[in-house]
Amino acid sequence: MDKIKRIKELITLINKLNYHYYVLDDPLIADREYDFIYDELVNLEKETGIVLPDSPTKQVGDTVLEGFKKHTHIAKLYSLDKCNNFQELESWINGIKKDFGDIDYSVEYKYDGLKMTITYENGELICAATRGNGYVGEDVTNQVLTIKSVPLRIPYKGKVVVEGEAMMKLSVLNEYNKTALEPLKNARNAAAGAIRNLDPKVTGSRNLSMFFYGVPYIEGKKFDTYLEMIQFLKDNDFPMYDYLKMEKSVSKIEELIDEIDKDKKNLDILIDGVVIKVNDFKIREKLGVTAKFPKWAVGYKFEAQELTTKLNQVVWQVGRTGKLTPIAEVDPVELAGATIKRATLNNYGDILRKGVKINSKVFVRRSNEVIPEILKVATVDESCYDVPKPTVCPSCGELLVEEGANLFCTNYYGCPEQIEDRINHYCQRNAMNIEGISGKTITMLRKNLNVKSVLDLYSIKKEDLLRLEKFAEKKAEKLINQIERSKNPKFANFIFALGINGVGEKTAKDLAKHFATLDDLKSANLEDLTQIDEVGLIIAQNIYDYFNDEKNIDLLSGLASVGLNIEYPTQEITQNTTFTGKTIVLTGDLENFTRSELTATLESYGAKVTSSVSKKTDLVIVGENAGSKLNKAKELGVQIMYEPELLEKLK
Ligand SMILES: [Zn+2]
Repeated sequence: MDKIKRIKELITLINKLNYHYYVLDDPLIADREYDFIYDELVNLEKETGIVLPDSPTKQVGDTVLEGFKKHTHIAKLYSLDKCNNFQELESWINGIKKDFGDIDYSVEYKYDGLKMTITYENGELICAATRGNGYVGEDVTNQVLTIKSVPLRIPYKGKVVVEGEAMMKLSVLNEYNKTALEPLKNARNAAAGAIRNLDPKVTGSRNLSMFFYGVPYIEGKKFDTYLEMIQFLKDNDFPMYDYLKMEKSVSKIEELIDEIDKDKKNLDILIDGVVIKVNDFKIREKLGVTAKFPKWAVGYKFEAQELTTKLNQVVWQVGRTGKLTPIAEVDPVELAGATIKRATLNNYGDILRKGVKINSKVFVRRSNEVIPEILKVATVDESCYDVPKPTVCPSCGELLVEEGANLFCTNYYGCPEQIEDRINHYCQRNAMNIEGISGKTITMLRKNLNVKSVLDLYSIKKEDLLRLEKFAEKKAEKLINQIERSKNPKFANFIFALGINGVGEKTAKDLAKHFATLDDLKSANLEDLTQIDEVGLIIAQNIYDYFNDEKNIDLLSGLASVGLNIEYPTQEITQNTTFTGKTIVLTGDLENFTRSELTATLESYGAKVTSSVSKKTDLVIVGENAGSKLNKAKELGVQIMYEPELLEKLK
């Protein structure tokens, strides 16, 4: 009896979750948690033999959104059975092995996008639809027409339905967010939201991609293997993500899964697992299907990166720029192999925007090498209340200043947390690389030796250190040596060490490449700074402000007076016997290069490119319509090179 009650509870719950997930595109819980609840229902139904009429297990998935025409699929679209660990994968493969022996399995990415079908007749695209519940989906033809890589015409003339996934590439998402009023947070939701937007213009603006992997229906052709099916898709110009491997043994498949899991962060698309399919269609036929899944394929799901938990409290950290960062303390959850107790909320505006409250359930995400983050609120009830907005600095008590979404403590010289964070940043390995100076040591230096800025580090004496707790002769000497050694930093490391807002390691390297010296960087204006590819207006402004701030001007001259000696990079030259060390003149119109491109290339070989031909010229490169310079070169007997030879020498 209790079981039936539980079944009813689960049905109500899942139907509510489905509505939020599929119709509102606003999930209440993480996918992985949904799967657990769903599995519980499936198991209870199996156990009791009772499947109630409104059970979501009778449906494969989505609800058709109002406003879209319905599209009935010619062939039912199955979803994919899943496995969550290697044991489940092994038992699936061993089950097949009993009857069919060692056979070929394809291994592919499991895309985290929106599944769709497209129908072609007489070689023309006639209809595109979402998967919907597997029988009926939404007609999204106008939306799909905005995806440029989807072919409108294909060579194959029979009626055919192809299956694939609409996705937003991560690089496209980044690009989109650079100018978007409402930045998109998740590539999957961005793609789904774009396809299921009634206005195709919105779809078009998201610049989606689509990758294909299946042919659920085809007239006038039969495939014997999955590889043949894939070849058919290739022959008909359907875009694919280039990853497909064939393996026989389960251990090899597991190796591939581990490899993909490790590499997935380098991909330009979101994947949430790996799909393994039987290659041979005769075997597929014999294995058959259940009500929902084919028995010849499984999706291996990677460990969850996202879960919900309760937010208990928010504490505020003061960073090196004086900016306050709210850190949420949450009920501990296990996420991708780590226990998460705290997660960042970026700034005060972020708390308001996400609607996060004390006691609310929130989504926590952990991505590679990044501190866990609160994504958004999941549920709010009566016990919830607003996160208190601090008015004074938690570290020094100074009144806070509000700037846009951020709160700042402006007590630059007196705020302990700010001071320590600046020193900490300055000392880290990729900055000045001062080893053996932990957070605790920095606190001690500040409290006992009155170290209040990175400049003060350079006046610490060994005997001062010896007065401190746990500082013996050796340790003190080592730290003094480390500080001394840090006076000769590489240019990029020094720029990073300054801790300019928004200037990470990568930007510091770009700046060091672009500017020859610190003085050049200091005197750069906004225009100079924004010429660097990766530097936008905001970061340019931060850099400009930094070097024009009295406090920093003092700091830099102070560092110079203690003997800072920056090591500047020497131009790296690729040796090329034809060009290295030569003085070269370009003339005429070249077919394969612009002037500036070729100049840059030649300079990278250590050549000097000048504009007029003289006795000092070693080589004249000649294109179409060359005039007086060519004549002059001939007169002086300077070596002449035409474009075909140039291409040869540059290889
Ligand atoms: Zn403060």
